[in-house]
Amino acid sequence: MPKIYNFGAGPAKMPEEVYEIMRNELTNFDGSGISLLETSHRTKAYMQFNTEVQNVVRRLLDVPANYKILFMAGGGTGEFAAVPLNLMSRTGTADYVVTGDWSAKAAKEAKKYGKVNLVLPPTDRYVGIPDQSEWNLDPNASYVHICTNETIHGVEFDFIPDTKGVPLVADMSSNIMSKKVDVSKFGVIYAGAQKNIGTAGVCLVIVREDLLNQALPICPSLFDWTANAKADSILNTPPMFAIYVMGRVLQWVERNGGVEGMAQLAAKKASLIYGAVEESNGFYSVPVAKNARSKMNVPFRIGSPANEDLEKEFLKGAEALGLIQLKGHRNVGGIRASIYNAVSIEEVETLVKYMKDFQNLYVNF
Ligand SMILES: *Cc1c(COP(=O)(O)O)cnc(C)c1O
Repeated sequence: MPKIYNFGAGPAKMPEEVYEIMRNELTNFDGSGISLLETSHRTKAYMQFNTEVQNVVRRLLDVPANYKILFMAGGGTGEFAAVPLNLMSRTGTADYVVTGDWSAKAAKEAKKYGKVNLVLPPTDRYVGIPDQSEWNLDPNASYVHICTNETIHGVEFDFIPDTKGVPLVADMSSNIMSKKVDVSKFGVIYAGAQKNIGTAGVCLVIVREDLLNQALPICPSLFDWTANAKADSILNTPPMFAIYVMGRVLQWVERNGGVEGMAQLAAKKASLIYGAVEESNGFYSVPVAKNARSKMNVPFRIGSPANEDLEKEFLKGAEALGLIQLKGHRNVGGIRASIYNAVSIEEVETLVKYMKDFQNLYVNF
């Protein structure tokens, strides 16, 4: 079997060093002689770890003291419901900036709990972030929701929108911890763990304290940020193992230059692939506008117009070399290389070399 290069969009590649640590600790958590998998969530050892994970998040993102850090079950999709359930009560209406399939899903879920104002004209071709001057924001909205990186379309915000005092809520599932963010500009940040910070089952939520205590009465306790904050994220048995994995991944980020270190690597990795696309004279193409190109998920097509047979050939050849999970999402087709924090420069260089070799072989087809 060749060495595997995993470019999957999620659950995605994990740092190899974290596997090593997990292997050593799997049956002996924190020197207790038993696995975390059979440890009570009320033990001192687990509660200390729970606090440590919160502290790492706080250090990495410089989270101000007036924000709570929560570990919520239900992944990113759970928070699509939790956001309106916790925030919609103020005015009964919310703004959604739909820039791809994930923010579209968030908006659809929110409609169950109140009125949703679509800030942008509807489209099914997501290839950029329209300039803020074109946004139709409702000053009466309870909050404005954005997705800072659309995992499927490879569309990433390169700015923090000005919402004129209305709380800004961001789904950062696929780019959290890939760069510095000014947390104070956000009311709420949430991120499912399985893209960049761990494994499925837990969603990191960072919420400003003044946004607590306004959940709708129908909000399930498990989705209620206030109840979870009061219980220090141990309201019930939390997805402990997923929280543990997240903790070990975040400690790895910290040991490797923090979010600034990750940002430098991300810029380098992304420029390698986008650069190869630019140099291909149209053999490869990226549909996304330059200022919105994601540094985490790089979607591209082959041939112009896109040639699906050639794309199939590309994926087949890639797999034979151990370059896997490169198929674009079924909604957009083509190729997608996800290059999260755990993907190394060398791995990206291997992909870029394959792109060049493939082009040389097939440029005349
Ligand atoms: C993957 C993803 C989600 C959904 O996460 P689940 O944990 O599967 O519910 C939401 N938003 C974005 C941006 C994602 O990439």
